[in-house]
Amino acid sequence: QAPFVFFCRPGFESDCAAEVQAIANAYELAGYANAPTDSGYVRFFLFDEESAEQFFEMLDLNDIVFARQWFWAKAELQDLPLEDRISPIIEMSSGGATGNSVLVEHLDSDEGRELSKFCKKFSTPLTIALEKQGLIHEDSEFRLHILFLANDHCLVGYSPVERSSELKGGILRLKSPRHAPSRSTLKLDEAIQVLMSKKQQKQVFRLGNTAADLGAAPGGWTFQLVERGLQVSAVDNGPMDKKLMATEQVEHFKANAFNWFPEKPVDLVVCDMVEKPSLVANLMASWLEEQHAQQAIFNLKLPMKKRFQEVADCIGLICDRLEEAELSYHWQAKHLYHDREEITVYFRVK
Ligand code: SAM
Repeated sequence: QAPFVFFCRPGFESDCAAEVQAIANAYELAGYANAPTDSGYVRFFLFDEESAEQFFEMLDLNDIVFARQWFWAKAELQDLPLEDRISPIIEMSSGGATGNSVLVEHLDSDEGRELSKFCKKFSTPLTIALEKQGLIHEDSEFRLHILFLANDHCLVGYSPVERSSELKGGILRLKSPRHAPSRSTLKLDEAIQVLMSKKQQKQVFRLGNTAADLGAAPGGWTFQLVERGLQVSAVDNGPMDKKLMATEQVEHFKANAFNWFPEKPVDLVVCDMVEKPSLVANLMASWLEEQHAQQAIFNLKLPMKKRFQEVADCIGLICDRLEEAELSYHWQAKHLYHDREEITVYFRVK
């Protein structure tokens, strides 16, 4: 059977596999995962073609926490002739779907990253060759993927444009702003771009809107909010960056964030405390339930082994509390590129 391929952060293969397995189970589709440790990817096999078709129809990257990218690998090409890798790929692709574009990708493992330059170089001639063969169509609903595992070994397949990432390997590369107080600023930047729609961003990031940042010091996350025009209440016993405070857009509260709440509701609450995930989940549920904020972005730190189970429990806990409070809500969670032993969650209540 042709496997489904899921890209993840190296070291998180078993979490990604557990999650994909849970998704298959939820749809009553039988399959199994192959997830070599530290490889940066998972192969998932369905037992029959009909199940695989169904799986393909319902998979959506937005619903998967531990995967950054996915596609259905229809062929595996090994021992490619180094002087002409294009012809065998074209031959393989002509039997399958056309795409609106092609992504030449590699994994995020040490081995995979060594192929980065080659993939970049190979992308243009391959795209031109595919176009010549009529395999690239602007209005195709698929995206073609060529995943190189070595310079003579690749997987060839496709994904639905609307339910996979347009970014190579699903990685959003961001440059750290010069004046940011910490590198973790990139985590919130990525979270905003990946988890919030453009419409939600526009609604929240209006000049003069307000936010609370729980566990804010030294201010990497507050920096992102200030840059987007918000007035921020930064809660932390630690010191905040001086330049950030000089913007006069930040008020620093030296307090325990577990019992600090704003006088008036804010437009967004963010939280990056190194704490037990269930404590953070309960705190965020309280903020949303009591309408201190209608939108929340927070990290769940995951030093434990069964990370997928922990995430499922924490999100389940928040959903239960919001349902009990009769609030309708939307959520999405992702193990972002800039996240390490943690994931980022976005919740919105209406
Ligand atoms: N997001 C910040 C940034 O980008 O600069 C980094 C936050 S750091 C990972 C975690 C912060 O949470 C620490 O500064 C710590 O003092 C704070 N913290 C931990 N427990 C807290 C609590 N109960 N109340 C307030 N702050 C807390």
